[in-house]
Formats: sequence, structure tokens, C-alpha cells
Amino acid sequence: MNKLPVSRLVVMKFGGTSVEDAVAIKRTASIVQGRRDKGLTPIVVVSAMAKVTDQLFAAAAAAARGDRSGALAITARLRNRHFETAKALISAETICDLGQWVESEFGSLDEVLRGLAAVGELTPRISDMIVSVGERLSSRIIAEAFRHYGLDAAHVDARQCIVTDAQHGKAIPQDSLIEQRLREHVLPHALAGRIVVIGGFIGSAADSAPDKLITTTLGRGGSDFTAALVGGGIDAGSIEIWTDVNGIMTTDPRIVPGALRVKTISFEEAAELAYFGAKVLHPATILPAVRKNIPVLVLNSHNPQNEGTRIISLAPHCRSPFKSIAVKRRLTIIDVVASRMLMSHGYLRAIFDVFDKHKCPVDMVSTSEVSVSLTVDSNEKLPEIAADLSQLADVKYEGRKALVCMVGENIRGQNGIAARVFQAIRHVNVRMISQGASEINMSFMIEEDDVEEAIRSLHAEFFSDPDPEIFDVEALKERAPEPVKEGVS
Ligand code: ASP
Ligand code: MG
Repeated sequence: MNKLPVSRLVVMKFGGTSVEDAVAIKRTASIVQGRRDKGLTPIVVVSAMAKVTDQLFAAAAAAARGDRSGALAITARLRNRHFETAKALISAETICDLGQWVESEFGSLDEVLRGLAAVGELTPRISDMIVSVGERLSSRIIAEAFRHYGLDAAHVDARQCIVTDAQHGKAIPQDSLIEQRLREHVLPHALAGRIVVIGGFIGSAADSAPDKLITTTLGRGGSDFTAALVGGGIDAGSIEIWTDVNGIMTTDPRIVPGALRVKTISFEEAAELAYFGAKVLHPATILPAVRKNIPVLVLNSHNPQNEGTRIISLAPHCRSPFKSIAVKRRLTIIDVVASRMLMSHGYLRAIFDVFDKHKCPVDMVSTSEVSVSLTVDSNEKLPEIAADLSQLADVKYEGRKALVCMVGENIRGQNGIAARVFQAIRHVNVRMISQGASEINMSFMIEEDDVEEAIRSLHAEFFSDPDPEIFDVEALKERAPEPVKEGVS
């Protein structure tokens, strides 16, 4: 087989809002055509249409509670939405087969939901089967729409390629099997110049029989992960994550209207930001791409001319210490004062066991001789967690906290940065501080009410003289007010 020059393969992932309706799908087709015109071979990974996965989860939950009609009402709306979208995209002649297929998919989905309503037990395996319908539908409809717009497209069922273990809901991909399957099912199309369209988020368990795939999912937001797995598996030249923002920003533009687009950022920095709530990218996206040194671009499907953010393994030199400030709200601080356990070993473990038991992830930890402070997402399990912890020590918890996370490779080994940070927010009460666990992130906990003031002060301190190599300063010039001309009223 003649080999395609690797750099010609580009994985383009479109999220839910980029395929939410016929207008969005048309826009997506023209973006893909644009890459094609540049001589690239796109492999397109799509999410379910916006909000569809949430609605499928809601239908499953309704059925599991015995609310059969509630569940079927949700799927009736979904059926209608997918039909209307397909009709608006595809000509009457070709819609027939697709329409029948959509009908039969909803028929099977409704059957599963009816069964579930009768039995009342939602297993993770059935949940995956139900929620996978979003990507299965979107990918096939989109492939058909692409063909209708003159793109030579082929649909590939992601479950043929994305082989995982059997941990339903958060299945772990099996890299070498995936590579093999991509070579079988995706590469031949790409070598023939066809554009593969494949659903994100879903896969199948490695021990499935070939004619009876056991559907798995990679976890919420998992389509980015699929894109990275596909990109890594076929040695793509780049991976493009198309979303509805202009890439990674220096901070939330709703808080700081003068926030700038970050043009280039390192993998490590981007992963750090993702963990701390910058919703642009799923952190796991990073890994399969990092391993193979494939650049990931975050781009805006509503503004395709914008260059977005380029994520690469080693960021180029930047004048300022930080690249971006992220904030995560709705957190709770839990203070555990373990005076009874003073000097005894194993008490941190006992504390973490409680969080483990309640499957509650901990964001930040700070310890002293007698007390441990931890922060968690505010959730309804807190009273139970506190009750368990109070068996070990005195416990207090307090909600409405926010974590500010400042990320930048250049803080490694630089003096005086912490002083500048805390000087900038000297009026704000800082509850917890963490630096060092990751050398490129400085985070601290404040009251939710102080977030806006803190972020504005920090942004002014660190981004008032932005490095044009790294930040989009052109946008700043465009935004600058016109100079006032004298004598003109
Ligand atoms: N549709 C899935 C979700 O909403 C996966 C994704 O969009 O990335 O979580
Ligand atoms: Mg998404």
C-alpha cells in the first residue's frame, strides 16, 4: 500500500454546538472543505448534537425510575430533531435510507427504555448503550450531509475502532488494538482520498464478539479524547478541536473584557488549565497527542478565520510568567482537625478513604501537624462525608469558595512571582494556597464573591504588557477606542 505523507492527515473534531442543527452542520462541511482545498485529508470526529447526550441520560434516568412515558417523550423529541435536521440537509431521494435507519435506531432505543422502565435497574452497560445513540446518529447524518454537499465522505462506526476495557461510563482505551483497527477501517478510506466521519465519545469492549459489539463510552466530553486517540493512532499531522470560542484565553472574557487569546501554549499548561475548569478541552485529549508530539489546535467554528490556540509539547519562550488564569467556582473547603490523632501515622490515609468511599474527587489539599484542609466540588454528599470524617476528627465545612489557578511554564525557578501575585490581591482574603505540586501552577482558594475583583487585579498585573509572540495583541489594537479628534462633534 502506498503511504500517505503523514502530515497530510488532519483530525478535525467538532463539538456539540458545531453540529447542533442544519446550519451548524453546513458550516462544518465548509470548514472541512477548506482543509480539503489545502490538500489535506481530514478525518472528522463529531460529538452528538448539542444537549443530546444530556437528554439521553435524562431519558435513561426517567425510565430507571419507572417513568416510561417521560422517557419516551424525551426520545420522541430527539427523534423529531434528528429527522428535521436530516431533512433540512439532505435531498428527498437520499433521505429515504437514512430516514429508515434513524427510525430503526429510535425503535431499538425505545425498546431498551421500555424494558428498563419495567425492570427499574439501570446498569452502566445499558446506560452506555443508551447514551451512545447521540454520536451514532450525529456521525451518520453528518457523513450523509457531507456527501450531499459534494464531499467524498465515508461513515465509520467508532465502535469498530475505539476498543476499550469494560469499565462502562469511563472506559480505558486499548491503544495498540485501536491503532490496528484504525489501520483496517479508517486508513484505507483516507488513502483513497475519502473523508472519514466517526462519532466521538463511544467505543466497544475488547471482548465483544465482532457481530455483537458491547458499547462503551469514554466519559463526559470524551469526543476530544477520541480525536486524540484517532490522531495518535494514525500519526496525524495535527489535531483540530473545533469549538465555539477563539481558543484558550488569558482569562474568562466575561470577567475581563480585555482578555487575550493565547496563540501558543504547552501541553502541560493546557492540561493544567483543563483540570482547573477552563472548559475548552478535555484534559485526556492531551495524552495520546503528547506521546506522539502531535500539535493540537483549538479553533472556533463560528469564526474559522481565527487562528485559535496551538498546543505544542514545548512552549516557546514567553516574556511573562503566566499564560492564563482559570477559576473554578462552587467549591467547598473541608477542615479536618485531627488533634486526637496527633503524631499517629495513617490519618491522612483514613481521611482519604472517606472521600474514596463516597467517590468524591479532592481538588486541593493543605496539611499542618494537626489539621488538613481539602477542597471538593460542592455536592449533595457533603453531609454524609462530614459525618464519616467526624468519626476521625473535628470537621467543619464551608461552601461558596472558588479556586484561582494561575498557569505558566515560566514560574519554574523564578523569584518574586508569589510576591507579585499576593500583592495584586492584597485586599482579598486567601483561604488556602498551593504551589509546587505542579511546578507550573500557582493556585489559591478565595471566597466566591471575591472572584471578579481578584481576577481583574491579577490580569492587570500580569497581562498589561503582553508578549506578541504568545498573545494575540492585534485584537487589543482592534478593540482600542478611536482617538478623539478635536473639533469634530
Ligand atoms: N456527547 C458527549 C458529551 O456530551 C461527548 C462530547 O460531547 O464530547 O459528553
Ligand atoms: Mg463537548
